[in-house]
Amino acid sequence: MATIGINIATGSLQQKEMIVGIDLGTTNSLVAIIHPGSKEPVVLKEHDGAALVPSIVHFGEANSITVGDGAKQFLITEPHNTIFSVKRLMGKSYNDVKDQSAFFTYRIIDDNTESLVKIQAGSTFYSPVELSSFILKELKHRAEHILKTPVTKAVITVPAYFNDAQRQATRDAGRLAGLDVLRIVNEPTAASLAYGLGISREEVKTVAVYDLGGGTFDISILRISNGIFEVLSTNGDTYLGGDDFDRAIMDHWIKETGLTSEELNSNKSLLQELRLKAEEAKKFLSTSDSYNGIVAGHELSLDKEQFEKLVEPFVTKTIQNCKNALQDAGLAINDIDEVIMVGGSTRVPLVRRSVGKFFGKKVHDSLNPDEVVALGAAVQADILAGNNKDFLLLDITPLSLGIETMGGLMDVMIPRNSKIPSKAARQYTTQKDGQGSIRIAVFQGERDLVKDNRKLAEFNLTGIPGMPAGLPKVEVSFLVNADGILVVKAKELRSGIEQSIEVKPQYGLTDEEVEKMLADSITHAKDDMQTRALVEAQTEAKQIIDTTSQFINKNKTFLTGKEMSETTTAIQQLDDLIEKGNKDEIHTAIEKLNEISRPYAERLMDEAIGKAMKGKNIME
Ligand code: AMP
Repeated sequence: MATIGINIATGSLQQKEMIVGIDLGTTNSLVAIIHPGSKEPVVLKEHDGAALVPSIVHFGEANSITVGDGAKQFLITEPHNTIFSVKRLMGKSYNDVKDQSAFFTYRIIDDNTESLVKIQAGSTFYSPVELSSFILKELKHRAEHILKTPVTKAVITVPAYFNDAQRQATRDAGRLAGLDVLRIVNEPTAASLAYGLGISREEVKTVAVYDLGGGTFDISILRISNGIFEVLSTNGDTYLGGDDFDRAIMDHWIKETGLTSEELNSNKSLLQELRLKAEEAKKFLSTSDSYNGIVAGHELSLDKEQFEKLVEPFVTKTIQNCKNALQDAGLAINDIDEVIMVGGSTRVPLVRRSVGKFFGKKVHDSLNPDEVVALGAAVQADILAGNNKDFLLLDITPLSLGIETMGGLMDVMIPRNSKIPSKAARQYTTQKDGQGSIRIAVFQGERDLVKDNRKLAEFNLTGIPGMPAGLPKVEVSFLVNADGILVVKAKELRSGIEQSIEVKPQYGLTDEEVEKMLADSITHAKDDMQTRALVEAQTEAKQIIDTTSQFINKNKTFLTGKEMSETTTAIQQLDDLIEKGNKDEIHTAIEKLNEISRPYAERLMDEAIGKAMKGKNIME
């Protein structure tokens, strides 16, 4: 017998729970669902027809947070408190992004460590995961508002080149936003699904997905067979897109109108206006042959031929990326069966023509290129909901599998809902000099602290030859084989010693228990994330205290009395804060200690280099 529920809060009929598809983009994000009536994927739109939510977060007075269009208007007036392009920071350390610091107008904390980046707005430090969760929360609210029903389950897309850490960060952001992330799907896979590719079981196809957005370009080559999508290669340019087209038009107009750099620099709003006109012209020329406009009394014009000449160098660059991707995949142009266009900038006719010509094919461009990834995510969500019977649902891991790391944190190796068989490996090292063994504790679950997860096994890798801390390379690998058995192996790569263990993760777990573990992870997401951030800050503080203390002890004679006393005070202050348990205060104290030690560390480094070079001939 079928049952129907009524949502008491909204009065609407409660259908089977809706799983939404989310495209969490660098510049814009959006949500799509499979329409219950038509069974077709559709994007969710507000009354005013807007589907795109700018991926921008603004921090205002009294801790108010605004996301989307409301935040966009602060980009110029309050650059320090308006965070854009968070996706570029997901799962990245400061070392990964320091070369791009000119791009970001907000404060990315430079504490010279390998640890994950933090962004400072006001006196609070945010992780990219938290910032992304604000965007996802906004999308969740909008979806609930439009659908008039709670939305708690989602599929979220990520670029095909995202690594484990970046995927895990995206999952965490979803969880923090109150979403059960059923699966992280590659954007090109979603785009293929939106065009119906890969839905039927027998299909074997090689697909090129060309994605040119506002600020990034990606080309991915996929092999689809038996409903499995394999990424053969990815290529692209993380700083190339429609924004470059706009800038090329602006430069052209500045030359044409004779606007001087003084005029432009003294009037920032003129520059902004010119940029907006350039984008308007570009969009207009996607469907018309010539454009005319006026800015501050200057007449502006551009025809299609001029426009194409201006942007051709950028398009040529993307074609070179396509060639590289084919080469990396070991394929020739003829091996590509389908070409899919994604991203707003593929509306430019020159782009479509050039890509079609390169691949010698008519490209798929009938769907809205801004929506195609979200639409595909909705198709994937529908498959996971079990509504699409044509699709083969592969065996998946019901809960995440990982090991315990510093401070009792869970380090996920195989995220839940991964296809079986599945494998992953990561390298760890020792904390103490001469450490002869390492304990590997294996856990299952979605919580950030292992104490809240289920322990599956524990073993010691012994016999590690005596080495200084940080030198041994212990590779821990997880393999879930086709029978669902988990094999965990630990190997010290320098000496070759290894140890392994086998467990059956599903053993003794009922569906209800799995459900409860998932529900708990959502309920505790915020506390968990705060605890994780605090444990990470404490660990970082301890490491910095250790290295700085060793450094000043070794180099006592080189430091001035003032430097010595400032350093010991800052160390003491940081040490006191570790136990106090406020991560923002700890980060501020770390910053302070770094500022004090940086000048003498640099001075000593220069001196050491100078000494090493003395009397040596430099050869070219
Ligand atoms: P996305 O990052 O995929 O949202 O792409 C946004 C980029 O697409 C921006 O650079 C837009 O200016 C560009 N775009 C949007 N519509 C058009 C259009 N009709 N013609 C050319 N470019 C467009």
